[in-house]
Amino acid sequence: MSKRSGGVEYSAFNISLITLLAIALIGVFSLFAIYQGFQSYNNREMEQAYYYMLIGIFGFATMGFMFFRSKTLVKNKLDLPKAEVLTTIECKKCGYKIVRKFERGDYIFKNDIACSKCDGMMTITRVHRKKKTEKELEKEFSNTWQS
Ligand SMILES: [Zn+2]
Repeated sequence: MSKRSGGVEYSAFNISLITLLAIALIGVFSLFAIYQGFQSYNNREMEQAYYYMLIGIFGFATMGFMFFRSKTLVKNKLDLPKAEVLTTIECKKCGYKIVRKFERGDYIFKNDIACSKCDGMMTITRVHRKKKTEKELEKEFSNTWQS
């Protein structure tokens, strides 16, 4: 049982493996830079020591930033509910209306397609999130009050 749950945990951790690898690489690089800085300092090469230290500190700062960023990204992924975006297209000539899924490149007042009811042009009038059904809203409401 413990072996299986361990596997699941690993796959969740696996998502940011590239990020962790990059952080580790920057860490090694920064440590090396700081080590070089101390070496230069010992050799009384003050300017070189200064630059190496600067690179090292910058590396650690980048590392911290990446770590913080990857953490917040995971958090945002969990918190954001999946929202379906819809596009409403309307014929100005006859008033025929269609609601379809949002497509890349959709924007309000864009001439989208020719009207299927008349010879007019259908224009995007609205880009909006899909309204939740009453059942979904009810469920959300009861969940809020339970917790
Ligand atoms: Zn029309």
